[in-house]
Amino acid sequence: MTFYHEEAKNIPVAAETEVLVAGGGPAGVGAAIAAARSGAKVMLIEKSGYPGGVATAGMMAVWSGAEECPLMNEIMDRTTRHASLPPECNPGLSAHWLRWTVPHECQKQVLLEMLQEAGVTMQFHTLAVAVIKEGNKVKGVITESKSGREAIMAQVVIDATGDGDIAAFAGAEYLLGREEDGVCQPATLMFRVGGVDYSRAVFPRAFGSFIELPKGEIQALGRKHLPFPAGHVLLYRNRLPGEVTVNMTNTIGINGTDVRDLTRAEINCRQQMDKIVQFLREFVPGYEKCYLSASAETVGIRETRHFKGVLTLTADDILKSTVFEDWIATRNWFNFDIHNTKGPGLDHNGEENSIPPTGAYSIPYRACIPEKLDGLLLSGRNISGTHKAHASYRVMGSCLNIGVGVGTAAAVAVQNNCELRDVDIRKVQKILLDGGTVV
Ligand SMILES: Cc1cc2nc3c(=O)[nH]c(=O)nc-3n(C[C@H](O)[C@H](O)[C@H](O)COP(=O)(O)OP(=O)(O)OC[C@H]3O[C@@H](n4cnc5c(N)ncnc54)[C@H](O)[C@@H]3O)c2cc1C
Repeated sequence: MTFYHEEAKNIPVAAETEVLVAGGGPAGVGAAIAAARSGAKVMLIEKSGYPGGVATAGMMAVWSGAEECPLMNEIMDRTTRHASLPPECNPGLSAHWLRWTVPHECQKQVLLEMLQEAGVTMQFHTLAVAVIKEGNKVKGVITESKSGREAIMAQVVIDATGDGDIAAFAGAEYLLGREEDGVCQPATLMFRVGGVDYSRAVFPRAFGSFIELPKGEIQALGRKHLPFPAGHVLLYRNRLPGEVTVNMTNTIGINGTDVRDLTRAEINCRQQMDKIVQFLREFVPGYEKCYLSASAETVGIRETRHFKGVLTLTADDILKSTVFEDWIATRNWFNFDIHNTKGPGLDHNGEENSIPPTGAYSIPYRACIPEKLDGLLLSGRNISGTHKAHASYRVMGSCLNIGVGVGTAAAVAVQNNCELRDVDIRKVQKILLDGGTVV
């Protein structure tokens, strides 16, 4: 590789804030709202033009993971009441689907309104590209946007970029993907089809959803007729009339922190989409007249960096339903959703429906503190956890739940003018309990 030497130059300090949240996905939204409601001056930067991350830009199907998180319930209540939803939904939608399914456009609006009401300063179309550090302490980030290269200074930075970009720029230690070989879970570009007849349609929503159809069993038909490495059939009910959210494109061997891999994933998945629509029309009842109605803004990345935190969450902690003394997010629950890294379906380490709902676990504050850095907290899927543990807490509800805890801790640190690792965790927990968190 050859190099070009870029000259150093002065850049404007565009803003100074108490808490800077980088990334406006579930983890960033949770952190920003919680920190602002706890009294901190908060700024949120996001590379897209709206909040929600994978929920909205990634066109996700359903919120899973921490159904008792008070903020998540507030979001769902507001979503249900929102004017942008169609007056009539698809017939047969259960209360569960009405509550947790993601109406993508509506939730962009809801999250934006809630951030505004909390008093969060938002700046979209802004990519964090470097970190400002003094010794081991993070003091701010450098951004790139249409306004050029700028600096934003902060007392606390929260890394909610999903990939942990800020922590990586700051030199935090991490492993990419699986511990043994660095392989990450496959990537998927979500899309929706319209024109589905809900009175006859089927909705296989797990790899183990085996459904006999007139032309054969649905997952076997998928393996036979879909373009490899696609091959599983995952279809989710949606609130928009005749629309179904499709989780069926698949790209393996992707490093989501490499722009060339990301480009390859976008192209591969887009090439699979038309074939998936044709497959649905030909084989799946109710989908005979379906068409591609919308695709996600960006390919969905399931897994990238796992940072070394003060504590690293393990699958064992999850299986034991550990309630850590320094919990900042409680009642998280999800199976180990590890997709096959070599093709369609589930990995041999993945498990579906294997953890009983009582097996809810907590997230320790220590897993949100990078081991050797000050001034920076991790939030969402980029906290410190093993490949297997991550496969459970990576779901949106848990990421939002983690964000609430991390945002609250950031506000307490600012108010007490202390280092993040010295925060009085009892104070943080009291605020969370007063806000309706149940341990
Ligand atoms: C295909 C797929 C299917 C899934 N299915 C489900 C499901 O059914 N249910 C469920 O609950 N979860 C599901 N998940 C998991 C879940 O969606 C994600 O793990 C979760 O959204 C992670 O939340 P986050 O806030 O940590 O990161 P993200 O949602 O990825 O948000 C990160 C945000 O940061 C922004 N960003 C990134 N880098 C920068 C930067 N350098 N500067 C500024 N902004 C930046 C991004 O634009 C994004 O908005 C799925 C994930 C995928 C990919």
